[in-house]
Parts: sequence; C-alpha cells; structure tokens
Amino acid sequence: MSMKRLESRTALVTGGSRGIGAAIVRRLWSEGAKVHFTYRAAEDQAREVIASCGGAVSASALDVTDAVACEAVVDEATEKLGGLDIVVNNAGIIRDGLFLSMEDTDWAEVIETNLGGVFRICRAACRQMLMQGGGSIVNVSSIVGELGGVGQANYAASKGALNALTRSLAAELGPKGVRVNAVAPGMVRTDMTGAVRAVAAEKILERIPLGRFAEPEEIASAVAFLASDDAKYLTGQVVTVDGGLSLLGRR
Ligand code: NAP
Repeated sequence: MSMKRLESRTALVTGGSRGIGAAIVRRLWSEGAKVHFTYRAAEDQAREVIASCGGAVSASALDVTDAVACEAVVDEATEKLGGLDIVVNNAGIIRDGLFLSMEDTDWAEVIETNLGGVFRICRAACRQMLMQGGGSIVNVSSIVGELGGVGQANYAASKGALNALTRSLAAELGPKGVRVNAVAPGMVRTDMTGAVRAVAAEKILERIPLGRFAEPEEIASAVAFLASDDAKYLTGQVVTVDGGLSLLGRR
C-alpha cells in the first residue's frame, strides 16, 4: 500500500493566493496534506486556489503585520485541521527603490511583512508544535538575502535576517522536535517579478546557468521536501533554488 508523503499532515501556508504560495498550497494538498492558507486581499484568487484543490483546502484573510490576527489564524488553522504539523511562511513583498531616496514606510513595510510576519506566525505556531511534540517550519527567503541587491536594501535586509532567524529557531527548537529550514529562490515567474522581467529579461537570463526563470511549482517541490520526513535530519538550512543564478554572484 502506498501512502502519499504528507498524508494526514496538517499545514498552514501564508500568502497562498498567488504565485509561489499558491503553488505550495497545491503541492502540499496533492501530497496528501490538509491545508489552510492565508491571503491579504486577493479573495477571488484565493477562491480559485481553493477550487483548484477540489474545494479540499480552506483560507482566511490575514495581514501578517497584525500580531493579534497572526495568533488568531494559527488558532483557527489548528482547530480546523486538527493540529499543526507544517507551517510555510511565504507571504512577502517588495518595495524596491534606491537607498538614498528610500521612504521610512518602504523600509518598515518590508521588514514588518517579510521578517516580523514570520516572527509572529512562528511564535504562535511553535507553541502548538511544542504541545504536539514537533513540527516542520519552512520559510520562503531569497538569494538576495545572501547576495544583497541594488535597489533592494530593505528586501535584502529582511531576507538576510530571515535566514538568521531560521538558523536560530532551528538551534533553539531542534531539541523539541521542531525543524526549521528555508528555501531561497532566485527569479521566479510570478507577479512580484513581472515588472523586472518585462524590462530586463534578457540581461537576467544571461546570468542564469539553467537559462530560464523558475516556475512557482519548482519552488513548491523544494518546500514540500523540507516539510516532509524525507528531510527529517535537515534543520537550520537555507536551500537555494535558483537555476545557478547565485553561482555567478552579484553583478
Ligand atoms: P506574489 O505573487 O506577489 O504573492 C505574494 C503573496 O503574499 C500573496 O498571496 C499576497 O496576498 C501575500 N501577502 C503580501 N503581503 C502580505 C501581508 N502583509 N500579509 C499577508 N499576506 C501578504 O509573490 P511571490 O513571487 O509568489 O513571492 C512569494 C515569496 O517568495 C515572497 O516571500 C518572496 O519574497 C519570495 N521570493 C520570490 C521570488 C520571485 O522571483 N518571485 C524570488 C525570491 C523570493 P494577496 O494576494 O492577497 O495580495
């Protein structure tokens, strides 16, 4: 008898209405997990994601900068799913701009969403995971967190700190049975990269050894691996999924 890899596992995914998050929701569901996901405002797209999973997943609105709402969503997901084995922190934003003219709000929104949001969701989720005796957290970072990026000081800082948060939680929670890892995508075909792909696709493609952008599903497969027992001896790792882009460094 063959069992699906994530059969009977319970999973919460933030930012599941579009792009990489939507692909993660579908992948975890197709591997047998019970999934609840969040979206900020895109209710129609959230509905489409639910439909694409045959109505078998659920969703609720959440702004991850809202501490009270983060606690509430973790409680809601835990109750609905009957536990919380897997958390994928995927919600993230960019507010790109040159550093000298970067507004305070562009700095704060990116840090509060990409880093603060993960802190708040993890703190709430870990309480539940410790009560259950374990769990697996996967954070969606970026290669920019290691490399830095022109016009992305806020975003790079948020993702670099997210990598450090990932390693710290892994060290602190490993003894309690909670694994914490991250994936660091390069350039993925989503709304987030639409503008830069429109103006600089050729230049970017030249720097990607595999010669193309990633599909969201190619990030989701790494997330599913890290969430699963196939990765049960991996913790504190940032797994780069970038077609080789970071091999050539920042240029
Ligand atoms: P996307 O298409 O722009 O989707 C972003 C998702 O996050 C949406 O579901 C959005 O909800 C949600 N979201 C945004 N702000 C939120 C908030 N304050 N609270 C809760 N949810 C919020 O982005 P993506 O390209 O799929 O990126 C997903 C993750 O991958 C991000 O962490 C991003 O930094 C990372 N990443 C992306 C790339 C890339 O090339 N695309 C590369 C490296 C890393 P709504 O739909 O309701 O707005």
